[in-house]
Formats: sequence, structure tokens, C-alpha cells
Amino acid sequence: MNRKVYRKLIFELSREGRHGHDIPRSGITPDDLGGVSVAPLPGDMMRADTLRLPEVDEPTAVRHYTNMSTNNFGVDTGFYPLGSCTMKYNPKINEEMAAHRCFAGVHPATPVSAAQGALQLYWTLQSALCKIGGMEEFTLNPFAGAQGELTGLMVIRAYHASRGEGDKRRKVIVPDSAHGTNPASAAVCGLEVVEVKSRPDGTVDVNDLAPLLDDTVAAMMMTNPNTLGIFEKDIPRIARMVHDVGALMYYDGANLNPLLGVARPGDMGFDVMHINLHKTFSTPHGGGGPGSGPVGVRKGLEKFLPNPRVIRHLETHQGFPVKEEKRYGIVYDPAALGSVSATLGNFAVQARALAYILTLGSDGLMEAGKLATLNATYIKESLKDCYLLPIDGLSKHEFVFDGLRDKSTGVTTLDVAKRLLDHGYHAPTIYFPLLFHESLMIEPTETESRETLDEFIDVMRDIAREAFEDPETVKTAPHLTPVRRPDDTQAALTPILTYDQLITTN
Ligand SMILES: *Cc1c(COP(=O)(O)O)cnc(C)c1O
Repeated sequence: MNRKVYRKLIFELSREGRHGHDIPRSGITPDDLGGVSVAPLPGDMMRADTLRLPEVDEPTAVRHYTNMSTNNFGVDTGFYPLGSCTMKYNPKINEEMAAHRCFAGVHPATPVSAAQGALQLYWTLQSALCKIGGMEEFTLNPFAGAQGELTGLMVIRAYHASRGEGDKRRKVIVPDSAHGTNPASAAVCGLEVVEVKSRPDGTVDVNDLAPLLDDTVAAMMMTNPNTLGIFEKDIPRIARMVHDVGALMYYDGANLNPLLGVARPGDMGFDVMHINLHKTFSTPHGGGGPGSGPVGVRKGLEKFLPNPRVIRHLETHQGFPVKEEKRYGIVYDPAALGSVSATLGNFAVQARALAYILTLGSDGLMEAGKLATLNATYIKESLKDCYLLPIDGLSKHEFVFDGLRDKSTGVTTLDVAKRLLDHGYHAPTIYFPLLFHESLMIEPTETESRETLDEFIDVMRDIAREAFEDPETVKTAPHLTPVRRPDDTQAALTPILTYDQLITTN
């Protein structure tokens, strides 16, 4: 990497009185051209005098923003070793479909008769997810995986309440390997979290689970393959034990890719599940959004799903044809949960996910699942002589190293992740899961080529060698990025978000 690093803020480039071209006003208004006129801002809201704006010439403004855009890392510029959770390749056709003029202009308040295509898209996607997950019905309304978990747990609470057991069943069992959002969602839902331990092979310890199960349990939440990438082989047995005490099984399908077309949570005994469209189905995310966490339920639980719901009228109704503009409808069931999102969720994300599903088709989805597993296994096997593999079982779409094999050099997982930045890679997820001290989690995803994986493996091997031969270089990495080692804690506790804050802090 050999490019100039631009550190200045646009405010620091500002010179009083500097400005770009300012052509004289023509005096022609949009009204003259038959266009829509724009009402001027009310006078008391105009802050031209008090608002401090940077004053720069045009080339400075253009160069500033263009250069700043190259300081960023994106999936269009490089590989993410924790792809699905962070960012995997987002096929361009998804973007084209979401931006299509037939979809881009739909407004939440568009009348149902004028939004039939959008509702058909929603209905088609929820039907596809039912097939993929083995569920009866899906709601696409939740905006994120965590919100899907909360919605799913609310469905489970509503189910127990409908049987007069709402007050009694307050516990949710969560494995110690679970994603942090699982216990958090249970707590937000007003339920008590009970942790179940993992065995040394990374799967849930059935002996530890048995004594936790009784009629105070509302649900057990599981991820399969779990966050260590290990397939939970005892699921049918666990599901039977959980159902025997009247509790429900919740499936965290944030990263369903390794199972796509191969196995279905509904067939494994799960009652409620969510899928992250923004992970499994390749829609872009990061920096907190946008996402979509659809929730599916098995037959019998549909009535507890949140409002609103999309329904399809069949081609004929009581012998009369149903008009095309009335085929899809939106219903609000007063008995259901309330709404969990504005209208029908993140429509543009749904459009991208459906584009991905339809592009691949069912054969392609099955291929994606297998490739996700093959790619992860290839990297794991190619690196396990330099990096410590704490659980050497068969893994699926992701796996976890416990830092470098040789710990004598003092080079940590953080150092390895920082050194990867110098080689033009995004860092993998580090220090998660909490089961190991030096966790380094890798998930290449199904979309990366053999050549990309080989290059990454070479770089990881180079770093392991460098950690031995020249540990200082690794410990002080990165050396080539605009920002090197920010104080994570300070950045989280006292973020500086505005120029004014920066001046007063310095
Ligand atoms: C990402 C993830 C979640 C949370 O999804 P968000 O959309 O980030 O809220 C939950 N569970 C697992 C296993 C995940 O990987």
C-alpha cells in the first residue's frame, strides 16, 4: 500500500470567504417550468448566520471527500475473513432489483391496490423462507436479528399465556457458546436467562441440561451449527427433552448458510426461528444497519405473530375471479402481538434477499451451503499447524482459533488482527466467543474463490512466521493504515463525534 493518508477534517481545510462557483440566479422558478414548487424554509428556522460551515474551494471539497472514501474498507475492495457476520459479497443484481423504479418509489402509505407487486414480493419471500426453514409462516417485519429474537420470544410468551402458563414459565435456557444477543433478548423480553454449559467438543452438555428442565422453562434457544461452527448432533434428543416439559425450541438462524437446502430447523424440532437476511442472504449491512430478521413459526403458532401480516387471496373466491389489484392484502389481527416495526419492515433488504434466493434457485442454495462449509474447512486445515485449534472436530461455516500456536512470543490475537490490516484485509472477529482467551473467528463464506482463500492463507502464515522472527513489528501493527491503534474503551465511552467537540477536547 503506498498512498497518501489524508487526516485533515474539512473544517481544518476551511478558509474564511473561500467558496466554489456561484452562478447568478435565473429568476425562473419550478412553477414556470410546470414543476412542483418547493416551499421555502420558515424564516425562524434559517440559521445561515449562526451555522458554522466549512468554507472551501471546489477542488478541495472534491478531493477531500474522494480521498476520504478511499480510507474506507469495503467488500468491493477486499476480503472479510468473518464474512457473513460482518460483510460478505453482495451480488450487484440484488442492488439493481432493490433500486428498480417499480420498487424504489413504494411508500409505506401506498394504498394496497397500488402496492400489489411489493406485497407479492413480501409474500413470495415469506413463502420461500417457510420452505427453507421448514416453518408454517414467517413475518418479515423485524429490522434485525436481535429484534427477531425478541419478537420470537414474545410469540413464545404469548403462546404460554394463551395456555394460562404465562406467569409460571419465566426461564429461557441459553448455551454458554451463544451469541450475546440471545441472553440480551431474553432479558429484554422480561425472562430469566439460565446458562447451559458446553462439552469439550463444543456442543451442548445434555447432562448439564437435564436438571435445568421443568415447568418454569418457557424456551431453549439454540444456534446450529453453533457459534463455534460445530453441528449440534443431539438436537432431536434435546428437542424431545424440552418439549416433554412443555417448553418450546427457539432456533437462532442468523447464519443459516451452511444448512441451506441441506437441513431444516423445522424438521429438527424447532418451533420458532429467525433468519438474518443481512447475513444468510447476502444483503449489505454494517455500522448498525440496515437489516432484517424475519421470524418463522411452526403450525399452530401463526396467530401469535405480530401485525401487520400479508395475505394472499386465491385466484377465485366463492367461484368469482379475484381481481389482480386485490390479490394481496394487509391484515391487522387484534388478537396478535402488536407491531414490532413500522409497516412491513425493511423492504429494500427484503427485495435484495429475494433477488439472491431467486438467482440461486433451490439447487444453488444447496451449493451455497456446501461451499460455505468447504471454504471454512479449507482455511482451518491449512492453518491449524500455526494457529491453535482448541476444538478439532468437523466444523461447518465458521471455526475458532485460540490465537497462535506458539505463545512464547507474546503476540496476541489482537496483534494478528491488526497486522492483517497492513496486508489489506479486514480483521476477523476477535475475542469472541468467550470460551477461549485468544479467540479468532474465521468465516470466509460461500462467495470467495479458491485463489482469494489461498492468498489469505499465505498472509496468515506469513504473520505467524513474522510473530516468531520479528514480534515487535506484529505487536505494533498496523503500520500502513490512517488510524493505527485507537483506544477502544475511550472510543466507546467518550466518542468525539463533532468538530466542536474535538476543539473543546483538545
Ligand atoms: C449476528 C447474530 C445475531 C444478531 O443479529 P443482528 O442483526 O446483529 O441483531 C444473533 N445471533 C447470531 C448467531 C448472530 O451471528
